[in-house]
Amino acid sequence: MKPLTFRTKIVATIGPACYSADVLRQMMLAGMNVARLNFSHGSYEDHGKMVKLLRQLSQELDLPLTILQDLQGPKIRVGDIPNNGMTLTEGSSLTIVPLEEWNGQENTVGIDYPYVAEEAQPGTQVLLDDGLLELTVETVEGKAVTCKVVEGGILKSHKGVNFPSLNLRLPSMTEKDKKDLEFGISQGVDIISLSFVRQAADIQALKAFLAARNVDIPVLAKIEKPQAIEHLEAIVDECNAIMVARGDLGVEMRPEKVPLLQKRIIRMCNQKGIPVITATQMLDSMIRNPRPTRAEASDVANAIIDGTDAVMLSGESAVGDFPVQAVTMLASIARDIESEITFTNYAPRNLDKAHALAEALNSIDKVLALQCIVAFTETGYSAKLAAAERPKVPVVALTPSIEVYHRLNLVWGVRPVLFECDYLTLEELLKQMEALLLERNFVSQGDQVLILGGLPLRQSRSTSFLNIHTIGNPN
Ligand code: PEP
Repeated sequence: MKPLTFRTKIVATIGPACYSADVLRQMMLAGMNVARLNFSHGSYEDHGKMVKLLRQLSQELDLPLTILQDLQGPKIRVGDIPNNGMTLTEGSSLTIVPLEEWNGQENTVGIDYPYVAEEAQPGTQVLLDDGLLELTVETVEGKAVTCKVVEGGILKSHKGVNFPSLNLRLPSMTEKDKKDLEFGISQGVDIISLSFVRQAADIQALKAFLAARNVDIPVLAKIEKPQAIEHLEAIVDECNAIMVARGDLGVEMRPEKVPLLQKRIIRMCNQKGIPVITATQMLDSMIRNPRPTRAEASDVANAIIDGTDAVMLSGESAVGDFPVQAVTMLASIARDIESEITFTNYAPRNLDKAHALAEALNSIDKVLALQCIVAFTETGYSAKLAAAERPKVPVVALTPSIEVYHRLNLVWGVRPVLFECDYLTLEELLKQMEALLLERNFVSQGDQVLILGGLPLRQSRSTSFLNIHTIGNPN
């Protein structure tokens, strides 16, 4: 068993580069806490195999693992391009039509957005392939939108299309998302993320879809649209977690806007006690190289200093040459930074019993040399409450629920452990807790731990006691 080490969480996107038990095992041992299945790519067969394998490894290694299903959302893409590529030269013209109007005309591409000609106007900006190529609309005639190439390059089949200034008529969940969701539910994923969220109602629609199927899986909004920034607080209030999806955010809103938006989103999540993931291009050069650039190491460090719960790998782990080294590098940066800095506490200060205890926990953590905080948690609430205080020591979350055990692994500083207690008295409970902490080398005799929990123990959201306990001491 690995002892408690760093507290920042690591999300790794699963893809062909890590489709093997050996690589995934190494990634988990290196510190991967969350496995992201990206439903923009891969088949159900691949994703299903991965869920099975990841669950097996989690059991074998006795490590929790959050499985995150990332839905593609309403992303517009270009259709087939002959020979899988056309060269766009600066100053030349390119015509965009709805896919159903495209039949191989020259200098024309089809996109899967039927209303393009109704909404685009001369001057509208069009970005292709994650913003690598840029067009400006010149004329709109019938269903055809003719553009001038501003930034050229090679356009390949199925690349993404962004219209940053348009309020697109797209559903929050596509038919593909709904089918993918049914599949994710059947696989027992731990958390579901929705791409291109624009307003809180998009998340409400996802929750309604889940509720109609009697499932209660936490939901995460990816913040990557200007409209989501406008409605940020309402979206955060509707979600169980947030992702700063810097890839599309930097296309929709320009890269230079991303650093301050990242800080603003993280701060808001910290203040509301909502876990937040910082994503995309964190160690991008490690797709090809075994070491990151200094700028990438700084970017990861700065996200941790900003207060992110988790940092994420995309191509680095999904298709890169060094997936295990990328996880190891994130872990190593996290360890270094965490040993040097004190995290700022932005925890919510609600006027209730649970938050009063959390505030007391924060004061005790400042005064006493604790080894860890132990949270007895039925739904994960007490553990998240403790973690939101950004304590100096890890939060060991003891839970009888296998779902909570896996889901909590995304939360900063929380180390979930399955704990089926069959106690009659508080004394008996402490005895069982001590045995477990000692067996896992989380503590030694004489260490002080701070216990947060609710009585009666099996009730959710009953956080009601805080106890300073010395290991080996009967009281
Ligand atoms: C992003 O845009 O940063 C992101 C995480 O989304 P995706 O990888 O699905 O494009």
